[in-house]
Amino acid sequence: MSAKIMDGNMLAREMRAEWKGRAQHLAERGMQPGLAVIIVGDDPASRIYVRNKAKACGETGIYSEIHEFPDSVSQDDVIQRIQELNGDIRIHGILVQLPLPPHFESVKVFASIAAEKDVDGFHLSNVGALATGNAVFPPCTPHGVMHLLRRYGIPIEGQHAVVVGRSNIVGKPMALMLLQKGATVTICTSKTRDLAAHTRRADILVVAAGKPRMITADMVKVGATVIDVGINRLPDGRLTGDVDFDSVSEKAGHITPVPGGVGPMTITMLLCNTIEAAERAQARN
Ligand code: NDP
Repeated sequence: MSAKIMDGNMLAREMRAEWKGRAQHLAERGMQPGLAVIIVGDDPASRIYVRNKAKACGETGIYSEIHEFPDSVSQDDVIQRIQELNGDIRIHGILVQLPLPPHFESVKVFASIAAEKDVDGFHLSNVGALATGNAVFPPCTPHGVMHLLRRYGIPIEGQHAVVVGRSNIVGKPMALMLLQKGATVTICTSKTRDLAAHTRRADILVVAAGKPRMITADMVKVGATVIDVGINRLPDGRLTGDVDFDSVSEKAGHITPVPGGVGPMTITMLLCNTIEAAERAQARN
């Protein structure tokens, strides 16, 4: 069996075209959506992500600004900048690029973002809203996965979903979203005994562990939907996911590639959340 590829680039293009129209509509009424991105330190991967986000904003009609700080900056200085941005009427979304340096408490930084501008969905009130089934801004990566599942007509209700990884930005919100849609959800971690016994029972398998090609064909049920969130750089510079694509795509029913699967959807969801934040701001005025 050869799996159907779930094309994140294609879906991202479709969605960005639709949302660009919504951004234009807002701009015609005097409110161009605006995103501020905060980056601390000089992690090269983070810098690339931030540049890509700013470029995607420009292409979608979103105003964006990047606020760069050195590694040595104090958490209070960053929080002060966030508070200024909370009051800036040109800015509808504020994003803090992760990872933050070790001397930062990310929960405190996220807590300083006004909840209505928290387009990444990491503020505790947004986390709580997601947990109770009323997400205000669903976190971008798992939300992008939900759009891919919908676009490819993958049933969720009553299905067994297995999520590998329990991070606050991917694994946990992913499990909550699948649960909300009626899946029976198992969450696996590095402490899970006999990982393959769980993954083999998955109708929908979402892998977000950051371990190159850890999921092999023998760990997957025939016909399963396999979503690979992982982004790992190999020693030769190429990118690979957490799933061994070549072998697993012979057995799965649907599969996302890396690159070109979940990655483009993550940025797309950020754009959508920013435009939606601007629409809500306009509705409040
Ligand atoms: P984290 O490192 O925060 O979390 C990884 C999770 O995987 C942890 O919960 C860990 O368990 C679990 N894990 C690690 N090894 C195993 C194992 N052998 N078996 C089972 N579980 C394991 O990573 P993130 O969630 O931030 O990211 C995960 C991956 O997704 C990374 O490759 C990252 O680059 C990528 N990513 C991709 C995005 C995209 O847009 N496509 C966006 C965000 C991330 P434990 O908690 O027990 O340590």
